[in-house]
Amino acid sequence: MSKLEIKDFRVSIGDKPIVKGFNLTINSGEVHAIMGPNGTGKSTLAKAIAGHPDYAVTGGDVLLDGKSVLAMEPDERARAGLFLAFQYPSEIPGVSIANFLRAAVQARMAEGEELDATGYYKRLYSKMDLLKIDRKFTSRSVNEGFSGGEKKRCEILQMAMLEPKFALMDETDSGLDIDALRIVADGVNALRGGQLGIMLITHYQRLLDYIVPDFVHVMYDGRLVKSGDKSLALELEAKGYDWVKQELAAASA
Ligand code: ADP
Ligand code: MG
Repeated sequence: MSKLEIKDFRVSIGDKPIVKGFNLTINSGEVHAIMGPNGTGKSTLAKAIAGHPDYAVTGGDVLLDGKSVLAMEPDERARAGLFLAFQYPSEIPGVSIANFLRAAVQARMAEGEELDATGYYKRLYSKMDLLKIDRKFTSRSVNEGFSGGEKKRCEILQMAMLEPKFALMDETDSGLDIDALRIVADGVNALRGGQLGIMLITHYQRLLDYIVPDFVHVMYDGRLVKSGDKSLALELEAKGYDWVKQELAAASA
């Protein structure tokens, strides 16, 4: 049982505060959806937790099983069990998915520990079977000429191979066609439960028709302002975000 605690977390880009005291705890096995209007700081939150160098943490803490990750380099955070699915993964021409994933798995092993080829392919094929991915897929170059759906398949396979404790998934609506949406949803549903905790950022309600989250949260102006179950996502779809803003204004009046 693991726990990711985000406590009064504050992040600035340059001098501009973007995340302004964000609180959330995610336990193993839980899927938390974070929704909210554009520009509210969702991507900044995920990138800062993963340790992206452009984002300055100005307050609060992020604890993985009670231990702060903030002093760790991004690769140490990954080794500790955090996984960030990137919004726009880059192309790596000439590097096959199989070799890329092997390097990624190797990089997360302790020093001196070696990944043997037989063990690696066994793990790779069992994950591919779980995710119903064709064996031919892994001989392709990473993201080269990939459709939106293929990029997502690569990302989900990477997540499955790395077996993180917590995955931070940032899904914009742009570029998510129905094919890509199904791949993300099927992948998350195959991997969820058990030990994996997921923070799924989306302002695309439709994704939540396929992935039923355990908790839904609304982020607004850098803070988490409302939490509920899956019915909150339906309410947001029907009514938009204005009523959340009105509730906030009424509460602070
Ligand atoms: P969301 O993911 O909720 O749409 P973001 O975290 O992407 O929100 O952005 C939050 C705010 O931070 C926005 O006002 C955006 O303009 C600003 N911002 C994001 N990235 C940068 C950046 N690299 N440089 C300057 N401002 C940025
Ligand atoms: Mg975003």
